[in-house]
Amino acid sequence: MRIVHPGRKRAAGPAWGRLPVVLTAAMILTATAWAAAQVGGRGGPKALGWLPAAFALATAAAAAIGAARVPGVPPGAARFWRHLGAAVALAAASLALPTTALLRAGPAGDPPAGWLPVATELMSSTAVALVVWALLRVPVGRLTPGQWVRLLLDTVTVVVGVGLVIWYASFGAAFLARPVDDSPWTQLVVGSLLLGGLAAVAKAVLMGPGPVDPGALRTLGMSLLVGGCSAAAASVVPDTAAVAPGQLFTPVIAMLTVLAARRQAVAALRGSTGRGARRAERSYRLLPYVALAATDVLLLLATRAGADLRRTVVVAGAIAVTSLVAVRQFAASADNARLVRQLRGQEERLRHQADHDALTQLANRGLFADRLDAALAGEDGQRIAVLLVDLDDFKSVNDTLGHAVGDQLLLGVAGRLRQCVRPEDTVARLGGDEFGVLLRGVAPADAEAAAGRVLASLATPVDADEHRLLVRASIGVAVAGPGDRSGTLLRNADIAMYAAKERGKSVYLRYVPGMATNVLEHARLGAQLREAIHGGQLYPVFQPVTDLISGRIIGMETLVRWTHPVRGQVQPVEFIPTAERTGLIVPMGRWLLAEACGRLARWKREYGEHGPATIGVNVSGRQLAEPRFAADTAAAVLAAGLEPHNLVLEVTEDSVLTGGEVIETLRQVHAFGVKIALDDFGTGQSSLGLLRSCPVDILKLDKSFVDGIAEGTGQAAIATAVVRMAQALGLDAVAEGIEEQKQVEFLTGIGYHLGQGYHLARPMPADQIVALFVPAGPAAVSVPSPAVPATGS
Ligand code: C2E
Ligand code: CA
Ligand code: CA
Repeated sequence: MRIVHPGRKRAAGPAWGRLPVVLTAAMILTATAWAAAQVGGRGGPKALGWLPAAFALATAAAAAIGAARVPGVPPGAARFWRHLGAAVALAAASLALPTTALLRAGPAGDPPAGWLPVATELMSSTAVALVVWALLRVPVGRLTPGQWVRLLLDTVTVVVGVGLVIWYASFGAAFLARPVDDSPWTQLVVGSLLLGGLAAVAKAVLMGPGPVDPGALRTLGMSLLVGGCSAAAASVVPDTAAVAPGQLFTPVIAMLTVLAARRQAVAALRGSTGRGARRAERSYRLLPYVALAATDVLLLLATRAGADLRRTVVVAGAIAVTSLVAVRQFAASADNARLVRQLRGQEERLRHQADHDALTQLANRGLFADRLDAALAGEDGQRIAVLLVDLDDFKSVNDTLGHAVGDQLLLGVAGRLRQCVRPEDTVARLGGDEFGVLLRGVAPADAEAAAGRVLASLATPVDADEHRLLVRASIGVAVAGPGDRSGTLLRNADIAMYAAKERGKSVYLRYVPGMATNVLEHARLGAQLREAIHGGQLYPVFQPVTDLISGRIIGMETLVRWTHPVRGQVQPVEFIPTAERTGLIVPMGRWLLAEACGRLARWKREYGEHGPATIGVNVSGRQLAEPRFAADTAAAVLAAGLEPHNLVLEVTEDSVLTGGEVIETLRQVHAFGVKIALDDFGTGQSSLGLLRSCPVDILKLDKSFVDGIAEGTGQAAIATAVVRMAQALGLDAVAEGIEEQKQVEFLTGIGYHLGQGYHLARPMPADQIVALFVPAGPAAVSVPSPAVPATGS
């Protein structure tokens, strides 16, 4: 990583470089040299001494205007520098005007008379007034009303304090000493300009960072102070002196102005206006206190001297400064109190944000864990319970209806959860669609009751953005045992929740020891099944569908088998649910479909009409929901070179009932020519309704109606109804799970022609089943004769 030190890099200056600094410095030297010569009596006319000052001021004016033009200078600051430049230019002119007039008149020319001195005086006063005005309206950064008041009070304090000192030291004395010598007007003008200047300086140094660079402002403030000193000196140095103080002071003022302008330009180019001034600023904040101390010193001095005007003024000033500082302190403390209140509020908000969920405003995982820890520590465990509520299929809401609807749904669920528990219980959103509830002081039965209430409350659809959504949830309940930590409790609730999901959704389960192994077992099975699919551990077996009268095999059902490397044969009932949950059923089913089609095509080639006419394949709802299913099926049929009606898809009623798309897929497959069998018929929820909406060719009477079938039994009644219905609708009926000859007889008696079952043939691998492909014989041929020759396979 590269570390950049922007502060170390030398900042590039403005385009005009250091020239103005050099020029003004040269003018200071020139003025000093001239003054020395003048004192020695060789300096020429006194007016000549104003030329370096005028030139230096002109340079300063140019620099100020230049600073206004530097790119990056904020508009408010640019305006300030333009004003300042104009004022300084005016001041330069006011000095140049009389000097050039004098010089043109020649070394022995008359002293300036008539309008000239008046104009000069007017110009220079205007210039100073303009500077003060520009400084006073320097845009201040964004301040609160309280900060404004403090800035005002500070400024007034400094002005009164410093003004008093200066007045005491120079003017006061001068005023008292020679009130008639000088025009009181001059005194007044100079005095008020000085006070104004002071105010400007005070404001400039006291205010926080605004658009004008604070460093530049402080440098300007210094130049104003030098100006003040110059004025003060002028009032005590007699006009007859060889050198006027202004002739020496002015180039210095100009140079400070140039430095200030340069500072602003550099800051703007560096893009750091107002930065880095914090520390300096803090020490300037002490200025009012310095002013206070100064007035106190004056007070001491003045009270030691006799009672005169000076003492009166100083006492009045001291009182003024003291009250100002007091008022300021009061304003500051009031402001601080408000600030503290604001900060407290902010802190509160931040803390809330840190441990609450932004969407639902429920506690988040961190706060939930903290509360759980506290509860476990406080109430010796035992009566603490946690519910872990996980929404079922929330992802599909997000995916199909959008995140805004998903958010609304979560909000709705959060509201329901809160209604289901007491106010003192904690409801938290632990992640995406997972919520936690912490119950205190409850018996295990109470915790389960709460879980039941949650499920019941979710039975009413939740309104989310125009949609009325029925959310289902799986809930894991865990009750703290002795010495349980929050981690254990949460993990147990998680395992119970997972088991509830396995159990079928919209269920709650309470954690019991040993549950973890089941859940883990399922997870492990999923991983192993994945390997099995890719590693060739799965293979198909085939069970014939037989003509009950002639014994002829007319079809074949494909059933999957798994030879587990460790556990040996694993039955479909054990792994089909896992395959469905993990989605592995989709690639597995696709593979099996191709296998089955390929196998039937081969039998047709090798056994002709002695082999089965159709091949049945079981298809789960998850497969039917795949958009590619119809296309994949047609492709498998065509690839094997079969006719579409050679294939029978066996679907259960439950898998078809999951949605409109599934029926639509079945219609497409059926339109292609593939036959559809309703498997386990009679066990579903709306067997009859399905016959209307779903394309069907075959009904497979579930084994439960065949078991123990006999005259007068309920099974017999249903079996009869099913076969009648099939006949009426022109469908084939197949009786499943025939294990005895008795059942064959009864079933044929009530009208069944087709059957399947161990009594007729067990499911067998391809190489064994071919032994059954023999010319038709009597129905009693239920046990295959191994002597029958098997060609091919
Ligand atoms: P199913 O589709 O109802 O298949 C019939 C089940 O009954 C098979 O069990 C079969 O071996 C068994 N069976 C047949 N005759 C008799 C009998 O006389 N007595 C008894 N007790 N059982 C008999 P299997 O192979 O264990 O399959 C169980 C279920 O697993 C199947 O029920 C089917 O729903 C599912 N299944 C099997 N293979 C697949 C497959 O490849 N894909 C899908 N999606 N499901 C499959
Ligand atoms: Ca079946
Ligand atoms: Ca069945």
